[in-house]
Amino acid sequence: MNAPLTQTPAPRAGTAGGTHGSELLAVRGITKRFGPVTANEDVHFTVRSGEVHALLGENGAGKSTLVKMLYGVYQPDAGEILAHGRQVRIASPAAARDLGLGMVFQDLRLVPALSVWENVSLHVRPKGRVLKPGALQRRIAEASERYGLAVDPTAKVADLSIGEWQRVELLKVLLAGARVLILDEPTSVLTPDEVEGLFGVVRQLRSEGTGVVIITHKMREVRDIADRLTVLRAGRIILADMAATEVADDDLVNAMVGESVRPVHNAGEQPPSNVPPVLVARGLALTGVGEGSGLRGVDLSVGAGEILGVAGVAGNGQRELSDLLTGAARADAGSVSVGGVTLPNGGPRAFRGAGVVSVAADPLREFVVPGLTLAEHAALWEAAGSAHRLRFDVKGATRRLGDKGRRLRLPLAPAGRRLDQLSGGNIQRVLLTLALGDPATVLVVSYPTRGLDVRTTEMTRSLLLSARAAGSAVVLISEDLDELMALCDRIAVLAHGAVSGVVPGRSADRRGLGQLMTGAA
Ligand code: ADP
Ligand code: MG
Repeated sequence: MNAPLTQTPAPRAGTAGGTHGSELLAVRGITKRFGPVTANEDVHFTVRSGEVHALLGENGAGKSTLVKMLYGVYQPDAGEILAHGRQVRIASPAAARDLGLGMVFQDLRLVPALSVWENVSLHVRPKGRVLKPGALQRRIAEASERYGLAVDPTAKVADLSIGEWQRVELLKVLLAGARVLILDEPTSVLTPDEVEGLFGVVRQLRSEGTGVVIITHKMREVRDIADRLTVLRAGRIILADMAATEVADDDLVNAMVGESVRPVHNAGEQPPSNVPPVLVARGLALTGVGEGSGLRGVDLSVGAGEILGVAGVAGNGQRELSDLLTGAARADAGSVSVGGVTLPNGGPRAFRGAGVVSVAADPLREFVVPGLTLAEHAALWEAAGSAHRLRFDVKGATRRLGDKGRRLRLPLAPAGRRLDQLSGGNIQRVLLTLALGDPATVLVVSYPTRGLDVRTTEMTRSLLLSARAAGSAVVLISEDLDELMALCDRIAVLAHGAVSGVVPGRSADRRGLGQLMTGAA
């Protein structure tokens, strides 16, 4: 029987960032193959008590495979896993939990039809014993209080937001008593506020001696939370177990992508202010679905060759704004005009006809049709933009998709492949190729780099700057303030469904934008 990681009392790490705790878990010389793919080769990795170890690398680098071996989902082909320096075999996730490991997967794994407490009970039930609902609900309430993870134990999971789902996942793991917590890209689905909440929990766990492994793409998050860093590329270790303070940002990016990626930024001339704007929104209002959402009279204008950023915490009207600017929703009040012509309220086809192109916030939900190929997606895209509703020309659309890909220099997967089977970066390339392949009059882009790796992120940003240079009027909705400051000519801030301020991109700073975001300015 493997000794649980909780048996050795965890020595308290001192101040965050430097002190090394005792070794809780380690892998040595681990190799894992999936058929011809070597997902991990001769990998070593250590988790220590009271430390946050960030595991970094591009999509496909092998990060999820490594942590799944730690959690008993996969068995390594070679190498060993050690708990407190003693070799162990982690035959299954249940064995991992017995050892004191907890994992929050990249794709959250709750049962939507069950309540919060029922989901937790599936996870923490001691062998052969069923916890009484009342007792378990009390334990959940205590843990949510202690870690500031607000959730209602009796709520149905299907009714929760993504951020709440993740809090349930965390509670599940914490109630099971994990001493090693593995988080696989936990922030890619969260708002900045929710990220702060999550990091608060992580800091608290660290101070209690838990060893935390976090996978993320975002430099700011690494700087925020990580004590140690390991970088994987193509299954191999590139940077091994470094103190976070010893690695500079550009060395870290280079380690991840293997070549220098220069962060793109908007160095173009400011658009002249004396020409009439292309896109004008006046008094846009729409009742939202969630609390505090909706739009309450928004005015915006964007000129040709200009990028207008829209900053704000998601859920402050961004969704409604992008729907109204693309004709996907009917405004309760207000109007949208392009080139001086007022467009019909809630007429997506007329908006497309006027040259308004949108890049979906959540491609998996809003763009990808399960089972259809790249070619079929291209035909669908064209059909949605054509005046003849029924025209569905797969062959022609495939050719035009290939032409656009070459023009934008975006390598695409073969046209016959199913889009839902591709990685996020590959799906993004298809969407961008369709959306940006022909110059748009107006481009409405929501969260275009959320969850993407460094290289795909920079590629996406360059394409937005190219669209700007080609004369498109671009609306860029994003939560990433660094992204907005790097790309935008002006930044409008949405708070509680209204524009709380508009600032020039070049002179914007995080603090000022942050104040506008909370409506404090
Ligand atoms: P990351 O999490 O860093 O994005 P992964 O560990 O998911 O990377 O994947 C590493 C490589 O292993 C990729 O080439 C991926 O396609 C492949 N891979 C991962 N899981 C499987 C699997 N279950 N079957 C086949 N190939 C896989
Ligand atoms: Mg992964």
